[in-house]
Amino acid sequence: MCRGWFALLAWLCLLWYSAVGHAHPTLPQRVLILHSYHQQFIWTQQINDAVIQRLENYLPRANIHIEYLDDRRFIDDPTLRQHMVTVLNHKYQRTPPDLIITTDDSALALVLNELSPWAANVPLVFGGVNIPEQHDLSGQAQYTGVYEGMAIEENLALIQHVLPQTRRIIIIADEASTLGQLMASKAKALQSEQLEVWSYFTLSELNQRLRQLPAQSAVLLLALHKDARGKYFSYQSSVPDLTASSRAPVFAMWGSLMLGHGVVGGAMNDGTRHGHHIADQALQILQGKPASNIPVRQGEYLPAFDYRQLRRFNIPMTRLPADATLLFEPVPFLQRHQTGLLILAVVVVILSAIISILSINIRRRARAEERWQTLRIELEQKVSERTEELAERNRQLSQLTDNLKRQVNTDPLTGIANRRLGKKRLLRLCESHSKNDAPLTLAIVDIDHFKRINDLHGHAVGDLALVEVASFLTGHMRPTDTVARWGGEEFLLLMPATTLDEAEAVCERLRSLARQMAVQDNHNISISVGVAAHQPGESDEALLERADRCLYLAKSNGRDRVTTELELSHL
Ligand code: GH3
Ligand code: MG
Ligand code: MG
Repeated sequence: MCRGWFALLAWLCLLWYSAVGHAHPTLPQRVLILHSYHQQFIWTQQINDAVIQRLENYLPRANIHIEYLDDRRFIDDPTLRQHMVTVLNHKYQRTPPDLIITTDDSALALVLNELSPWAANVPLVFGGVNIPEQHDLSGQAQYTGVYEGMAIEENLALIQHVLPQTRRIIIIADEASTLGQLMASKAKALQSEQLEVWSYFTLSELNQRLRQLPAQSAVLLLALHKDARGKYFSYQSSVPDLTASSRAPVFAMWGSLMLGHGVVGGAMNDGTRHGHHIADQALQILQGKPASNIPVRQGEYLPAFDYRQLRRFNIPMTRLPADATLLFEPVPFLQRHQTGLLILAVVVVILSAIISILSINIRRRARAEERWQTLRIELEQKVSERTEELAERNRQLSQLTDNLKRQVNTDPLTGIANRRLGKKRLLRLCESHSKNDAPLTLAIVDIDHFKRINDLHGHAVGDLALVEVASFLTGHMRPTDTVARWGGEEFLLLMPATTLDEAEAVCERLRSLARQMAVQDNHNISISVGVAAHQPGESDEALLERADRCLYLAKSNGRDRVTTELELSHL
């Protein structure tokens, strides 16, 4: 039973550890970072920034107090530091921070020697310390940190390794600054014939001397803060000048401060890396580890080189140590513009696709247009052919109709109106005459003894005679009159708007003229004519019958004469 509870407890602990214990717990402590900030002094800023950046991953930003002493900027004003001490004591002695971090020599000195006793009881992590001898840490309750130191010998060895033919190495360290003095004295202590230490010069003199260096020389730039005239030396603006005028390759040890400004390379201290070491120690303390249990460590100096400067001084890459970092190596064109080229390629592909689709569409449309045009022309041709065909058919049809109409109403032998048309017109005239008072007269013309013509000269001559008489009658009648073949050798004359007397006169003239006609040159012909005038309301049949009777009378009276209905009444 007891073992069961124990197992459950162990399991819960394991669960808690994996859920909470493994993740970084929020650290409630407050950290004070002290830094001798100077706007132009990038190197220590880099250390400081790296410390803050790493701590921010674990602490709320409000728990990180940063104090910039700025004493490098006011280097000639010792009262500033006194004021700073007053301010810091005022701010922190009542509620001291849980940890102090200093990121350079000056800040560490302030904590150890100048702040009131509250600071001595706070765990301390120092960094960026070049001169350990300057600091007495015995009064500090708990401390650890990272010595930056100075890698003079490492750099001399590196120069020999990279440039084995070097005969002379110039070490530059100004005696105007504490660090410069220290470095210069350390360099001088090395006592090598090959080495020469320049520590007292003006900046223009230094430039001049660098320009005149003999071949197979190398320069190791240690520290430079002020020249012999007290003129401030800015690494950022002056290192490029120095390295540009130097005939010998310049080596140095302060990472980003030197690389990229004309320095060939060196065993370099990287500010960011240094800052991360400091922050890691600080985090261990904040997580409960006593500072005294965390050993003070030495900063790293790793070989790093500027590709462009190596090329300038013809230093073969094969001479570099295996672990060297090579910076500013030109990135191949394709690699440099990888993203741009990729975007360009995608754009080109998309544009090509769009252009292809568009041109395919244009071609399709052109082909469709062409097909449509061909179809349209073919259709138009067909329509016009069909129209012409239909027009031709219509023409033929109307011709046929006309012919038929003509044939229906025309006498085939003489070509004048036939009995059918004569009868139709007679009927119409009778009807219209009944409606108005215009006179209408009808005459029936009969060729006398026509049978004899046939008998004497043959049927064909008879036909010819009929044609001639028809033409003769038509030629002497008015256009408004009708001449129709009534049957055999009889003709019907319809004379609208003509009185009986007028009609009699016309027929008399016809009869007279007919006498002059001859068949076969010597066979004269004569005609007999019966004339009757239409009475209003009278039928056509009655009129015809009366005219016929008149004709019969004319025949009876000896032929070759015109008989009107007036003579019928005398009978
Ligand atoms: P009448 O003076 O009494 O009228 O004597 P006729 O001979 O003219 O009259 P009849 O009625 O005796 O004869 C008519 C002739 O006309 C008979 C017929 O052969 C002839 N005839 C009728 N139609 C045609 C025709 O189309 N062509 C020819 N050649 N002769 C025709
Ligand atoms: Mg007759
Ligand atoms: Mg006759």
